[in-house]
Amino acid sequence: MRDNRAMDAATRKRLRDRLVSLRDELTAEGGLDIPPARTDAVSQPDDDEAPLTEMTQTIASNRNRERGERLAQIRDALALIDEDPEEFGLCEDCEEPIKARRIELMPWVVLCVACQEKRERDDRPGRRKNLRDYR
Ligand SMILES: [Zn+2]
Repeated sequence: MRDNRAMDAATRKRLRDRLVSLRDELTAEGGLDIPPARTDAVSQPDDDEAPLTEMTQTIASNRNRERGERLAQIRDALALIDEDPEEFGLCEDCEEPIKARRIELMPWVVLCVACQEKRERDDRPGRRKNLRDYR
């Protein structure tokens, strides 16, 4: 049996409300559609404006991607709270409760600090291991 000391219902409710407003903020900002990849990257642009435009586009699409990923994390967290509330606040890997301070700062996190660091180590390019996926 797992000892779930993760959080009480009131905390969960409060974090859920925060996740909902974060999700709404991200959704309201719009522009989450990532522009299609440029296919003319090989041909050199003739004017001076093009490289800047390209850079701006890259920055914008990176930002959009980050927001899209964050939005996906928030949606996952909300789905978890609704479907499996006992699991919310528990680390996805080691199933230990995530520290309250961490989850207050980032209510969408699914990993404790130790497992997050471990994943980042394992995820390093060049020595990618098979990532475990419990979803
Ligand atoms: Zn963990």
